[in-house]
Amino acid sequence: MREVVRPCAPAPLLDTTAAVARLASTGDADHNVYAHPDVVAALRRMYLDKCFLCEVGVANHGEVEHFVPWHQQYPDRAYDWANLHLSCGSCNQRKRRTGYRVPARGPANRTVLLDPSAPPTGSKLSDLLSFDGECRAFAHAAMVPTVAAELTSKTVEFLNDPEPLTLRHRRLMSMLTVAATDGFVPKWKDMCAEAAIDPTSWSAADRKLLFDALDRADALYGQFLTDTQPHSSCMKMVVFERLRIGAPDFRRMSDTIREIKGVPLLP
Ligand SMILES: [Zn+2]
Repeated sequence: MREVVRPCAPAPLLDTTAAVARLASTGDADHNVYAHPDVVAALRRMYLDKCFLCEVGVANHGEVEHFVPWHQQYPDRAYDWANLHLSCGSCNQRKRRTGYRVPARGPANRTVLLDPSAPPTGSKLSDLLSFDGECRAFAHAAMVPTVAAELTSKTVEFLNDPEPLTLRHRRLMSMLTVAATDGFVPKWKDMCAEAAIDPTSWSAADRKLLFDALDRADALYGQFLTDTQPHSSCMKMVVFERLRIGAPDFRRMSDTIREIKGVPLLP
């Protein structure tokens, strides 16, 4: 789960008075309004084509998800921009389970999960949620029982469901395969220890090996740690747990080799 800044509502959701009135009378939410192509495009940009909960890539199969379910008696929710997210089909289904949606009052439900576009007041997702070296989500231990603690605990349970956990672990194995190839880890650690990576100070004998190591660090950063990649929030934490090299160090190595080559830096 990656915290996002929600932009202004897209045009199709600015005046939904007629759609809300129709829903209130017919009981049907209009897919052409809440899943208008402009709304879907805005969600895809905000979530970088990833599921808002599990961060699997959903480039061509994302679903528009109502965080709090709409209901005939609460028609505004169907077209409320703040209530809409981009989800994979699996999370959309699992989120409907009892336990993640609990009754509030009357037909209203409340969703007991963290919202990555609106974390509990005063909190950051990164202060609430982490991943261990096996990609298992956990809540930060220091939290006292609060609304944030309840939402975090349920989100941890949701993210540790066997399906998303297996996908994250598979991703980790791919990342470790890239990291392990040719024994680059010790060279990366040497470079991390330097305040500034300075290739001009390298001996001719070391130069090729160290440039190869930078190239590999750039590949690992680009393939696994940039925000556009699946499960990047988890991978950024796990890479340090497994290699003792943090994502910012991979970023620094990636920037160094790209500046040398004169190619654009990764986002
Ligand atoms: Zn998902």
